[in-house]
Amino acid sequence: MNKEIIKKHEKLKEKQRKEIKKIEKELIIAYALLFKEIKEIIRETEEKAGEWNYEELNKYNRLNKTIDEVNKKIDKNRNKEIALITGLLILGYKRSWEDSKELIKSNKEVPTLEKIKKNIADPWSGLSFSERIWDNQHKLKRKLKSNLIKRAVDKDNVNKVIKDIEKELNVSYNNAKRLINTEYTRVNYIAEIELFKEEGVTEVMYNATLDNSCSECSSMHGKVFRIETEPALPRHANCACFYTPVLP
Ligand SMILES: [Zn+2]
Repeated sequence: MNKEIIKKHEKLKEKQRKEIKKIEKELIIAYALLFKEIKEIIRETEEKAGEWNYEELNKYNRLNKTIDEVNKKIDKNRNKEIALITGLLILGYKRSWEDSKELIKSNKEVPTLEKIKKNIADPWSGLSFSERIWDNQHKLKRKLKSNLIKRAVDKDNVNKVIKDIEKELNVSYNNAKRLINTEYTRVNYIAEIELFKEEGVTEVMYNATLDNSCSECSSMHGKVFRIETEPALPRHANCACFYTPVLP
């Protein structure tokens, strides 16, 4: 029985990877657009000021206006990011529910959208995913602002300013990517356990995927837990561990 379940789970993982990849691609496009927009703002400011120089940039409040414009673009990107990730998590929850349903031959309908949103927003610890996105974009703003000012004080070439921006946007994109993977694993886990609970499954077995991704979890492999005493997933970044129901 368990072998069959694990085989099904492998197929499921493949589907999940595709769902994630699709959103990652959309995020890449969003960040590329953000980079283009910020670059245009910087070039325009530099043209007006003549060079990236603090004294010139401070005339007519140019530097502050530029920072405001950049921040507006970052806000727009943040909203897009939240919408994309929320969509992915809802999709992941629903699909995980449907797949788990099939696994235990259940007829329980997927919870309402309202309930799903509540479930996925409820963090296991610390910040919820949208708060993390806000936090991430806030850091990006602060970092860009301090770079813009520092380069102006140092009278650096504007190309260096743009290089800084590219670097910081990459950091921010990678943070978003990590967040997607972690949160996605989390909602898949939440949906599955929620259904098991409703269907009276009493025990779950821990499965560590035994490729390198979860070497630190391998000692947990095969352990059986009473439902609701199992360790929450994911247990670490890029954790691909999962539970299977222990059926009588
Ligand atoms: Zn793991």
